[in-house]
Amino acid sequence: MPPTFYMKKCTGCGLCDSICPADAIYMKEFEDTSVPYLKYPDECWHCGSCRQDCPEGAIEIQFPPDMLCI
Ligand code: SF4
Ligand code: SF4
Repeated sequence: MPPTFYMKKCTGCGLCDSICPADAIYMKEFEDTSVPYLKYPDECWHCGSCRQDCPEGAIEIQFPPDMLCI
C-alpha cells in the first residue's frame, strides 16, 4: 500500500513532497495550511523516504510482502 498521511500529526511542512523521488506526493494549498496527498499512487515504489523523513511521524506505509521477504 502507498503511504497514508495522518492529518492529526501533519504540520503541512511539505518535506514529503520535496523528497519523494517518484514525485508522487503533492500539497493541496488552503488559505492557512497545506495538506499532502498522493497524487500518483501508481508511481510510488515504496522506497520509504517519506515515512523516514517526516519530522512528525505522520506517514505510515504498508510495504508489500515481497519487499519484506515474507
Ligand atoms: S513531511 Fe510529514 S509533516 Fe511534513 S507535510 Fe509531509 S506528512 Fe506532513
Ligand atoms: S514511499 Fe517513496 S516513492 Fe512512495 S510516496 Fe513515499 S517517498 Fe514517494
